[in-house]
Amino acid sequence: MDGHATTRVDPQVVEAMLPYLSDRFGNPSSQSHGYGWEAAAAVKQARQILADAIAASSEEIVFTSGATEANNLAIKGVAEANLQRGRHLITLQTEHRAVLEPCQYLERLGFEVTYLPVQGDGLIDLQQLQASLRPDTILVSVMAANSEIGVLQPLAEIGAICHAHQVLFHTDAAQAIAKIPLDVQTSNIDLMSLTAHKVYGPKGIGALYIRRKNPRVQLAPQIHGGEQERGFRSGTLATHQIVGFAKAIELGLAEQPQESERLRQLRDRLYSRLQTLEGIYLNGHPTQRLPGSLNISVEGVDGAALLLTLRSQVALSSGSACASGRAEPSPVLIALGRDKALASASLRFGIGRFNTLDEVDFVTEQVAMSIQSLRRNHTKA
Ligand SMILES: *Cc1c(COP(=O)(O)O)cnc(C)c1O
Repeated sequence: MDGHATTRVDPQVVEAMLPYLSDRFGNPSSQSHGYGWEAAAAVKQARQILADAIAASSEEIVFTSGATEANNLAIKGVAEANLQRGRHLITLQTEHRAVLEPCQYLERLGFEVTYLPVQGDGLIDLQQLQASLRPDTILVSVMAANSEIGVLQPLAEIGAICHAHQVLFHTDAAQAIAKIPLDVQTSNIDLMSLTAHKVYGPKGIGALYIRRKNPRVQLAPQIHGGEQERGFRSGTLATHQIVGFAKAIELGLAEQPQESERLRQLRDRLYSRLQTLEGIYLNGHPTQRLPGSLNISVEGVDGAALLLTLRSQVALSSGSACASGRAEPSPVLIALGRDKALASASLRFGIGRFNTLDEVDFVTEQVAMSIQSLRRNHTKA
C-alpha cells in the first residue's frame, strides 16, 4: 500500500508496449523506411494523448526519462535561458527533492531561491506568494499533489498570480496526472512535469509540457545530442515506454471519476478505523488531497519500530521513498509544524487501482494491532 512510491504496470499497458519491443522496433527518427515511420506514428499518437490529458497541444510535450529529469529541465532550463530577466526563483519547502535539489544547485551558481513555508494543512499561503514576488523573479515552482501527504495545491490561483506578474509557473504533477483533472490553460501553467510510473505505467518515462504561446517559454536544453524533441531533449525516443505511458494515462483518465470515489471511500474507511485508536494525527488538509492518499502521525510509538513490526505483512512507508533509509524526520511534516516526535512517527498510505476492500481492512487491522502493541510495551518500559 505504498502507491506514492510507485505502482504496478497495468497488464493492458504491458500489452500495448510489447509490439514495440519486438516487431515494431524502429527508431522514430528513421525517416527512410517503414520501421521508422511505424515507430514515429506511435510516438505521435502517444504525444497527442498526453497533450489532450492536460489541455495542451502535441508540440508542447517533450519526452524525458521521468519527472526528475523534467523538473531539472524546467528549472535549470528556465534559469539558464532567462539570465537577462533575473535570477530569483520561488518554490515551497514541501516540494519533492527533484525540485529542491535543482534549486539548491542554482543557488550554488549564484541564483536566489525563496523556499516558502506552508500553512499547517500543507497548503501554500497565496498572500505570502504575492509578497515574495520580485521584479527579478523568473519562475515559481509549486507541485500539484504532494507525494508524502497528498495535498493538492491551488494551481489555478497560483497560475493567476504568476500570469499577472509575468512570472513563469512550473508544476510537478508526478502524483497528480490522471488522478485529478489538470488543465494548463485554465490554470495558467507554463511548464508541467509528468511521469508514468505513479499511474500504472512503466518506470523510466515522463514528459515536460512547455508552453509555446502566451507566453512562449524560453528554455535551455540540458541534454545535448541528436536534436530529438526539437532540441529540448536529445536521445533516441523510447517508443515502447512512450506507448505505455500514453496507455496508462488513457486508462487513468477513463476510470478517474469512479475510481476517485472508490479510493476516497477506502481511504476514509481506513482513517476512521485508525482514528478510534486516539493519538492519531492527520497530516495535511482533510479534503484538498488525492483520493487514495492518507498520511498520519502516531503518538506514543517509535516510527521506525512501527514500520519494522509491519514490514513482513504490509508494504508501507513513513514518507518519500527517496528519503527512506534516512534517520531524520520528514522535512515535509516539519514544515507543517509537527514536532520532531510526531514527524518521526508517520505512516503514508497510497491506496490504488489494485487494492481491494479486503486488503484495506487487513492493513487497517495490522496497523491498529502494531500501534496498540507498541504502545503497551512503551507503557511497560
Ligand atoms: C516520484 C516523483 C518524482 C520523481 O519522478 P521520477 O519519474 O521517478 O523521476 C518527482 N516528483 C514527485 C512529486 C514525485 O512523486
